[in-house]
Amino acid sequence: MNKSEDKPAFLEFVAPGVLELHPYEPGMPVEELQRRLGVADAIKLASNENPMGPSPKVKAALAAAAQGNLALYPDDGGFRLKAKLAAQHGVTPDHITLCNGSNTLLDLIARVFLGPQHAAMYSQYAFAVYPLVTLAQNAPAIVVPALPPEHAMAYGDDLDGFLRLLRGDVAVIFIASPNNPTGTWVEAAAFERFLEQVPPHTVVVLDEAYHDYQDPALRIPSAALMRRHPNLMITRTFSKAHGIASMRVGYGVAHPRLTDLLHRVRQPFNNGTLALLAAEVSLDDPQHIAAAVALNNRERPRVTAALQALGLRVLPSQANFVTVGFGRNAAPIHQALLERGIIVRPMGSYAMPEFLRVSIGTVAENDRFLAALAQILASKAA
Ligand SMILES: *Cc1c(COP(=O)(O)O)cnc(C)c1O
Repeated sequence: MNKSEDKPAFLEFVAPGVLELHPYEPGMPVEELQRRLGVADAIKLASNENPMGPSPKVKAALAAAAQGNLALYPDDGGFRLKAKLAAQHGVTPDHITLCNGSNTLLDLIARVFLGPQHAAMYSQYAFAVYPLVTLAQNAPAIVVPALPPEHAMAYGDDLDGFLRLLRGDVAVIFIASPNNPTGTWVEAAAFERFLEQVPPHTVVVLDEAYHDYQDPALRIPSAALMRRHPNLMITRTFSKAHGIASMRVGYGVAHPRLTDLLHRVRQPFNNGTLALLAAEVSLDDPQHIAAAVALNNRERPRVTAALQALGLRVLPSQANFVTVGFGRNAAPIHQALLERGIIVRPMGSYAMPEFLRVSIGTVAENDRFLAALAQILASKAA
C-alpha cells in the first residue's frame, strides 16, 4: 500500500465524531463460528433473540406473501400496522413512527435534535447505539456514572445522577428500561418523578425493547406518561419477544408533532412489505408472545441460580438475558465457550471486560451453556 492509499485525502473532511466512532459489535452469527472454528452445531445466546422464533402464523403469512407481487414498493405509511399499534397503545396513528428496527429510530431522533450545540445524555453502561448516533451527529455526550457495583441495581441508570448533570443544552436523554447490556431497570415511580424534573425542551427517549419480558408490576406506564409529557418518546421493537429480528421492525410512540419531525428525516419505504406483514400478524398472536415470556420467566431464574451456584455474580435482570460477572477478565471464558460451539456476548466494548452477557435460550440451549461453563471453570482451562 502506498502512502496516499494509507491515508486517503478525503479523510480531511470526515466529521470529527465519526473518526471517534467504533462500529457496533453484533453478536457473532452461527455461520461465522462454523466458518472460523469448524464447529458443527453451534448455538447463539448472544443477541437476545426469541429462542422460540416467530409465531407459526407469521411464518405462514410470509410464505403466502412470497407468492404476491414483490415488485411493488411497500405501503410507505404502514397503514395497517400503525392502526394496530395505535389501538394497542390507546393513541391515534399519528403518534406512531415505523422504522427498520428501533435502532433506526434512535438515529432519526439524533438527526432531528442532536448537533455540536445540542447534547445527548445517557448512562455509563447504556446501549451502544446511543453513543453511536450521538457521535455521528458531532454532538456532545454527557455520560452519567452508573449506580455502583455494590448497589442493588448495580451498573444501572442513576436517575438522580442524570438530574445532577443535566444542563440547558441537553436535547435528548436516552434511557433503556430494562437496559441492555445490564438487564437492570428503572423504577416506575422514580421515572415519573424524574420526568417531572426534566425541562420540557429536553426529549426523553424511553427504550422499551425488553418491555414484554418485564414483570407487569414493574413496568413504567409509558403511554399514559407520554400523554402528560409531550417530550417523552417511547421506542419498542419486534426483534425481541416477537421473534422477528430478521425482519427489522421497530416503532416509536410520541406526540404527533415529534412524530412529524421524525417523518421528515426518515427514508421513504423504510419498512419492507414482508416486514410490515410479519409485525402485523405477530400482533394477532399474543399467545405466542406469552409463551415466549413464560419460557423466559421459568428459565431466567433457573439459569441465574445455576450461575450463582458456580460462584458467579449475576446482575439483576428483567430482560431475556443475564449479565454474568467472573471477577476477572472473561475473554478466555468467552473463547472457551466459542470452542464448544456456544456464542455469548463479550462485554469489553462496554468497558465491562469481567462480564459476559448471555441470552436466555431454550431449556436445551441453557443446559448446554451451563454444562460447558461448569466444565470450563472446573478445568481451569480459562
Ligand atoms: C435489541 C435492542 C433494541 C432493538 O433493536 P432493533 O433495531 O429494533 O432490532 C433497541 N434497544 C435496545 C436497548 C436493545 O437491546
